[in-house]
Amino acid sequence: MKTHVKALVVGGGAVGTSIAYHLGKAGWDTMLLERDELTSGSTWHAAGLLPYFNMSFATTHIHDYSIKFYKELEAETGLNAGFSVCGNLRMARTQERMDEYALYSSTAETVGVPHEWITPAQIKERWPLIRTDDLKGAIYHNTDGYINPADVTMAMAKGARQHGVTIERKWQVDGYEWTGSEWRVTVTKMVEKGGNLVASDEQTVITAEHVVTATGNHAQRTAELLKIKIPAIPVEHQFIVMDQDPALVEFRKTNPEHPVIRDADAQSYVREERGGWILGVYEKNAPARFEYGVPDSFRADLFQLDLERIEQQYMEMIHRIPSCETCGLKDDFNGPICYTPDGNPLVGPAPGLRNMWLAEGFSFGITAAGGTGYYLAQMMVEGEAEIDMASLDPKRYGSWMTTEFAARKNEECYDHVYILHHPDEERPAARPLRTSPAYDRQAARGAQFGWVNGWERPNYYAPEGFSDHDSRSFRRGGWWQYAVEEAKAIREGVGLVDATAFTKHIVKGAGAAAFLDWFTTNKLPRVGRINLTYALTDAGTTRTEYTIVRLAEDEFYLVSAGAWTAYDADYLRKAIEDKEPEFGRIECQDVTTQWGVFAIAGPKSRDVLNAVIKDRDPATALSNKRFPWLSAKQIELGMCPVNAIRVAYTGELGWELHHPIEMQNYLFDLLEKAGEPHGMKLVGGRAQNWLRMEKSYRAFGTELGRDATPLEADLPRFVDLGKEFRGKASMEALGIRSKCVTLLIDGPDDADPWGREALYSGDTKVGRLTSGGYSVAFGKSIGMGYVSPDLAEVGTKLQVRMQRKLWDAMVVEDSPYDPKNATIRKDG
Ligand SMILES: Cc1cc2nc3c(=O)[nH]c(=O)nc-3n(C[C@H](O)[C@H](O)[C@H](O)COP(=O)(O)OP(=O)(O)OC[C@H]3O[C@@H](n4cnc5c(N)ncnc54)[C@H](O)[C@@H]3O)c2cc1C
Repeated sequence: MKTHVKALVVGGGAVGTSIAYHLGKAGWDTMLLERDELTSGSTWHAAGLLPYFNMSFATTHIHDYSIKFYKELEAETGLNAGFSVCGNLRMARTQERMDEYALYSSTAETVGVPHEWITPAQIKERWPLIRTDDLKGAIYHNTDGYINPADVTMAMAKGARQHGVTIERKWQVDGYEWTGSEWRVTVTKMVEKGGNLVASDEQTVITAEHVVTATGNHAQRTAELLKIKIPAIPVEHQFIVMDQDPALVEFRKTNPEHPVIRDADAQSYVREERGGWILGVYEKNAPARFEYGVPDSFRADLFQLDLERIEQQYMEMIHRIPSCETCGLKDDFNGPICYTPDGNPLVGPAPGLRNMWLAEGFSFGITAAGGTGYYLAQMMVEGEAEIDMASLDPKRYGSWMTTEFAARKNEECYDHVYILHHPDEERPAARPLRTSPAYDRQAARGAQFGWVNGWERPNYYAPEGFSDHDSRSFRRGGWWQYAVEEAKAIREGVGLVDATAFTKHIVKGAGAAAFLDWFTTNKLPRVGRINLTYALTDAGTTRTEYTIVRLAEDEFYLVSAGAWTAYDADYLRKAIEDKEPEFGRIECQDVTTQWGVFAIAGPKSRDVLNAVIKDRDPATALSNKRFPWLSAKQIELGMCPVNAIRVAYTGELGWELHHPIEMQNYLFDLLEKAGEPHGMKLVGGRAQNWLRMEKSYRAFGTELGRDATPLEADLPRFVDLGKEFRGKASMEALGIRSKCVTLLIDGPDDADPWGREALYSGDTKVGRLTSGGYSVAFGKSIGMGYVSPDLAEVGTKLQVRMQRKLWDAMVVEDSPYDPKNATIRKDG
């Protein structure tokens, strides 16, 4: 066996095999290790469905690649993987479900996924066995279908070997050690003993520059070996195979195969199988399994069928396809299907480790394998993938994550596969978990909380008795009017937003200034001042947005998005480690949970603070002279020491009040009382998100990410081309491929865009929205997005597809509300 390779892939399921294939194809010397036989994990018992349908932009790209790639595999390898391109028919029983499909259609359209709309009458005409009298319609993909999971894996394995990949079976990875330049991987020969697979005494060490783990249900053991956390835990998943249906056999004499029939409102899918049907379900109460590892005795095994749990879906199937009522049960499958708390797999660099890549937590792993191999290989070989993979990054869960959290959230995620995926959805399991001290006070005042990286953050405030759950919609939800009132409060009076979830780092030491100057794009601020700046990937795209406060010559306070604490910390720490020898001593501390943050904003915000500030001259303490815009100061509000920063993400006169977390309730009460005479309103994240769009403030994760440079985001004022910084040459080499614009939209009366809609110029698709919402300043919908540079001119007329119609939109100047920043700079 080879003992040194460039890349070692651990796990010979569909995912690992595809990664090995793509690394081999890219020319890397690659070895794949599998502890048992290829496909002996979840891959062997998958139903093989390859549905396009997915609400995420990155995942839709991944599925799109897989479907196209699998169609070409036979020509390359000579192996037929049994791809039945029968399509997927996704039916809707309600208008809400049709609205969901319309929103999905936006994402599909921006990726270029072909799909069509189909009426109940058309369904009946083409597939008369399907009952349609209670349907509103359906969305139909005719280019996807299903495949044989084992065969497609074997075809990829053959292709991998053709590209020079070595595949070794019956070798289990039992230890990882990083030497500083490569991984020493201890592997044990596995042998058959009495039907079990057991470790032999034979061990060896393989050294590899890069390791990828794709260990499926064994992710918890992998986590233990690597001493990291991986929230990938399987849940039971069942499908049943039924005997022949005579009506189906008759139908098929003169007709092609049925598409995969998805009855989303009945949480199930049905497909043909040798004249009978397969029924697969996403039922309630499916339990998590293997929280603490897969038992040695579990190989390519299954759990016992729990028919009672799927009785309702079974009855619904009979309702939908009445001819199947008399068909007997032929076979059943109840296997472990890996999940993650949000349903997206974990793909990318492992937290805290070098050259260690994870590809874990796949619940649609057959569908995703091809694309995952392609994009992960791009990340490893070229440094970045052509799409932003951040939404799949393993570091989207921080060190606060536990096994119990992952297991309960994964069960919820499974249970939610077929719920209505409202864009304003908030899932209830494992909540509340991370709460700031003011949580109870906010809840008592009607806060409806959203989930951000485990934190509870008010989305908006509503009167007693209001149900957030019932208010959700694909159009303007019942909460919309409250967000409007909150946004108006900030524009016209004063509002208080809880921004405690912000990620906060202190970077200090003799090398800190030189390091940050290299690490970020903007000039560093002077002591007491702040700057908005970007850390780039080596490919020149945006890795993180920071507000940097210079506390002292060699001490900096870095504030970044709350959703990305571990993601930001990892990149920052690794860069510091690399650069300390060059720049000198640099200390880095994550202080996220030590500091609470309230953002007070609005024309009356200074009046509120003036009433509680303790200063030798309170009347001038917050004046432009003593506290100019874009500066930071330590002030005292009553008895609370506050690091105040004069910025407002809402673009109104305002301050961020960073305070010791243990004094948060004191400060909350103080501000609430001081705000009373000025009508101060508590404001949630949704209104804040709308307001920042009126100021064209780009948000990380939407406008800002690893698929665009800050220059493409049209932020040249935060990029100092006069200095050298990480990613600069690559950024310049990329040029301006597309440009970020703000649009005002004459949309429907009852809906705003959500930030995933396609943009059109005439009949041509020219870009996509990345954010969307409502503007109180302009009384219409607003959005931000990317278009080709020639269409980024102010006044360009475009159209946005919403609710399956095109609506007029116009590119407006950057910061259409208060473009000169007069209100932010207002003196007083
Ligand atoms: C009943 C059922 C139906 C499903 N239907 C579908 C479907 O229709 N469509 C779809 O897309 N998905 C479906 N899935 C999900 C799909 O099966 C998985 O997402 C997919 O198989 C995951 O592939 P993988 O390569 O990540 O993991 P696996 O196939 O589990 O492979 C992981 C491999 O890693 C090996 N391994 C683990 N640890 C080590 C180690 N230390 N050293 C060496 N080797 C190791 C294991 O032996 C295993 O072979 C279904 C799942 C179930 C349970």
